[in-house]
Amino acid sequence: MRHISKLPDVGTTIFTVMGALAKKHHAINLAQGFPDFKMDENLIDLVTSAMQNGHNQYAPMQGDLGLREAIAKKFDLLYGTSYHPENEITITTGATQAIFSIISAFIKPNDEVIIFRPAYDCYEPTIALNGGKTVSVALESPNFKVDWNEVKSKINSRTKMMVINTPQNPIGTVFSEADMRQLQQLTIGTDIIILSDEVYEHMVFDGEKHQSACLFPDLKSRSFIVASFGKTFHNTGWKMGYCCAPQPLMSELRKVHQFNVFSVNHPMQKALAAYLQNENRYLELSAFYQQKRDLFLSLIKDSRFKFTPSKGTYFQLLDYSGITQENDVDFAKRLTVENKLTSIPISVFYDTKIESKMLRFCFAKKDETLKQAAEILNQI
Ligand code: PMP
Ligand code: GLN
Repeated sequence: MRHISKLPDVGTTIFTVMGALAKKHHAINLAQGFPDFKMDENLIDLVTSAMQNGHNQYAPMQGDLGLREAIAKKFDLLYGTSYHPENEITITTGATQAIFSIISAFIKPNDEVIIFRPAYDCYEPTIALNGGKTVSVALESPNFKVDWNEVKSKINSRTKMMVINTPQNPIGTVFSEADMRQLQQLTIGTDIIILSDEVYEHMVFDGEKHQSACLFPDLKSRSFIVASFGKTFHNTGWKMGYCCAPQPLMSELRKVHQFNVFSVNHPMQKALAAYLQNENRYLELSAFYQQKRDLFLSLIKDSRFKFTPSKGTYFQLLDYSGITQENDVDFAKRLTVENKLTSIPISVFYDTKIESKMLRFCFAKKDETLKQAAEILNQI
């Protein structure tokens, strides 16, 4: 039987490839973004109770109302603006499914979507599956600043959506208030939808404030905010997330969501609704991860790797240009095989060849794991 691939250029994701290599060579895995420490037992107990209390059948299509109310409260507390739990918040199977459903709900053949590279890997294939065209704005090291004039030059009548990601994976940068104001200015009066991937909203360092798209009224009116409980509560394997948007946008999203998954794991939603009542559980996260970042960087300060401390996310880029001129994919593989430490090469998040010699390391790890990794980096 013959078939034509809808994604001829797509292979297996770099996270799977590097994870498998780490396993094969018994390497310390700082590649895929997940913690190697335990999540909170209290949250596990809450899931058990929810199951014992009979929440084992389909949840409502939009998500458990209690959880949606808890999310609405969180927005109010953090950003002084909220979303209506009935018709502006939907619980999803992780951020990935929210992103897939949002793009599928709005992108038609030949629509253009602007993304900022290096970009998280699920945006482009999802745009392509829907017949859309990805238009890239490349951010360049060392500081990866956005040139808003370049963005402006790429907006035209076919531009249907822009995807932003602050804090940004894989580079660990954040958009400033000035960036968000520029974005707002550029999109005012247009029909451009913003997909604001904010899965790292609770990992922002050095006293900076997370600049959510919901803080800027005109941006809020055209934005989907996407979030991930897996990132926030140390349980990426649960694949729980949500998205928020004004009602006219959200009702289109739900048309797709209901046929994509219909509804999401019920007992976990009940548990998360109860767990979110204590805001310290997410408010303490930035300090927790800043301490991990600082430990990691202090341990490798005398190594031959160069770095600018990450401003957000739980990823740190290390520049190895003082060590070798190998490309980043080869060097990441060699580090795994020969030195037993695995990272992610960042060139795979671009659509063109790039010169920078950078690897991404995940510091959501036990202190002892970070110490072992640092020992290896110090020997290279
Ligand atoms: N967006 C970004 C920027 C990510 O790094 C990830 C990975 N966590 C996701 C979306 C997907 O999140 P989830 O695991 O909740 O699907
Ligand atoms: N978000 C995670 C990362 O960037 C990976 C998730 C995945 O493997 N798709 O490492």
